Amino acid sequence: MRIVLVGPPGAGKGTQAAYLAKNLAIPHISTGDLFRANISQGTPLGVEAKSYMDAGNLVPDSVTIGMAEDRMEQPDAADGFLLDGFPRNLGQAEALDAYLKGKDLELDAVLDLEVPEDEVVKRIAGRRICRKDSSHVFHAEYNKPKTEGVCDVCGGELYQRDDDREETVRKRLEVYHTETEPIIDYYKAQDLVITIPALGKVAEVTQRAMNALGSGE
Ligand SMILES: [Zn+2]
Repeated sequence: MRIVLVGPPGAGKGTQAAYLAKNLAIPHISTGDLFRANISQGTPLGVEAKSYMDAGNLVPDSVTIGMAEDRMEQPDAADGFLLDGFPRNLGQAEALDAYLKGKDLELDAVLDLEVPEDEVVKRIAGRRICRKDSSHVFHAEYNKPKTEGVCDVCGGELYQRDDDREETVRKRLEVYHTETEPIIDYYKAQDLVITIPALGKVAEVTQRAMNALGSGE
């Protein structure tokens, strides 16, 4: 199966992508991983991406598309893949279509993880991270530490990352609406979009998505 996963920041996209890819036995191709791998291996695209990033500029779509195409050429992706973070705008979606068409392939589905916007803001803006170990994560409302501001696990100080501030989250959502949401309409016109309500437990959301793909138990 060839699947694209989309959803706003805070929808749990990365987590769902990992579970779905495992259940479907296809590789999980995330843009974040692609960038890290290309940069750490010093590939020509990685070197190019790094030069933009070091200068504080956005990496052009052509570089991202090149990395994604290289990855889709790998043998483990021959029978399918799950794309996470790509395409992130209309230009990338059109490039993906052109690439697949050239191989006589097509997408099977575009999964759209849907969460109410205020819920996204609440989830992210409430996050509190331990300064000593960033895997110790609490939530001001849903997963309160025993003592406010103190990590239950190690006693470290809890803080809010700048990225998680409400203002920043609203800004990221705005970028998502402007840049990424148009691809949902683009794929709707191809009858590929399956909307998955993404509230609830992680395993429940995964099951919903598997059922929607016709691969549920
Ligand atoms: Zn801690």
